[in-house]
Amino acid sequence: MTEVVVATKNLDKIPEIEAVLGTLLPGLVIVSGLDWPDVDETGVTLEENALLKARIAAGATGYPAIGDDTGLEVRSLDGAPGVRTARFAGPAASYADNRAALLAALSGVGDRSARFRTAVAFVRPSGRELVVSGELVGSIAHQERGLGGFGYDPIFEVGGETLAEMGEEAKNRISHRARALAALAEALASAGDDLG
Ligand code: IMP
Repeated sequence: MTEVVVATKNLDKIPEIEAVLGTLLPGLVIVSGLDWPDVDETGVTLEENALLKARIAAGATGYPAIGDDTGLEVRSLDGAPGVRTARFAGPAASYADNRAALLAALSGVGDRSARFRTAVAFVRPSGRELVVSGELVGSIAHQERGLGGFGYDPIFEVGGETLAEMGEEAKNRISHRARALAALAEALASAGDDLG
C-alpha cells in the first residue's frame, strides 16, 4: 500500500479522481485531512500547472502527490480557453458564468468541436516526477443539458449526450481525467514502479 495525496482543493474533482484511482491503482491509499499552500496556476501549459500543484502538495505533506490540471480547447476559438478554462469569464467567474461566456462566444458558430485535456503529474518528495495526459473529444452544445457533473459538463457533448446527462459512472469511464489517470497507471506499471 502506498499513501498519496491528491493535490487539488476542488471538491468536485476529488470524488472523480478517487473513483478512478480506486479501480486503476488499488494499491494507492489517498490520505485526506492534510493542507498545503494555495498554488498560483502560473504555468503556460496544463502539464506545468499539474506539476506546480503536485510539487507544492508533496513538499508540504511529505507524501507523493498527484496533481491535475484540465483545459477545454475549442477549435473555432483557436484552442481557447485552454489553460484559462477556470477563468474564461473573468478572474472570479463561477462555473455558470464560464458556461454562459462560452455559449455567447460560440453564438452563430458552426464548428463547435472541442476537447477536454487533463495533465496529471505524480511527484514524490524525493523529487522524482512523472507527467502524462488524457483527452476527450466532443463538441459544445447549443444550450445546457443535464444536472450531473460540474464545470462545463452541461455543455460538453459526446455521442449526443452532455457529460452532465450521462451520469458519474459513464463519465468516469471515458473522461479526460480518467484517461490521464489510466496513462499514469500504465506509465508506472511499464516502469516497473511498485510505488514503494
Ligand atoms: P482545473 O484548473 O483543473 O481545476 O480546471 C479548470 C476548469 O476546468 C474548472 O474550473 C472547470 O470549470 C473545468 N473543468 C475541469 N474538469 C472538468 C470536467 O471534468 N468537466 C467539466 N469542467 C471541468
